[in-house]
Amino acid sequence: MNDCIFCKIRDGVIPSEKVYEDESMFIIRDIEPKAERHFLMIPKRHFKLLSEMTEKDSVTLGKCLKKIPKLNDLLGLSGGYRLVINQGDDAGQTVFHLHVHILTGQKMDFPHL
Ligand code: 5GP
Ligand code: ZN
Repeated sequence: MNDCIFCKIRDGVIPSEKVYEDESMFIIRDIEPKAERHFLMIPKRHFKLLSEMTEKDSVTLGKCLKKIPKLNDLLGLSGGYRLVINQGDDAGQTVFHLHVHILTGQKMDFPHL
C-alpha cells in the first residue's frame, strides 16, 4: 500500500484543491505556507529523490520548470519567486515524493524556509 500523502492527493484520496494540473504534474498550496504565497509543484510519478530520477523523469521535471513562467498570472509570480527542492533529512525533507516549493509574493529576505 502506498502511504505517500502526495500520491493520495494526486489520486483524490486526500482532498486538496489543485491550483493547476496537466498530464505530468499538479500544483497545490502548501498547507503550512512559509511565504506570502507558497505552492508545491508535484510530478505525478512517485519518486523520492533526484538520485532516483529516470531519464524520462528528468525530461518531465524540465517541462515542469519550463511551465512555471507560463503560470505567472495564475500563481502571481510577477514580483519574482524562489524554487526549493529539499533532499533528505539534513534539508528537512518531510514528504518523500519529489516536489518543488514555489515561494512568492514577498521579498525573500530570510535565509531559511
Ligand atoms: P518538504 O519538507 O518535504 O520539502 O515539503 C513538504 C511540504 O508539504 C511541507 O512544506 C508541508 O507543509 C507540506 N504538506 C505536508 N502535508 C501536506 C498536505 O496534506 N497538504 C498540503 N497542501 N501540503 C502538505
Ligand atoms: Zn508519492
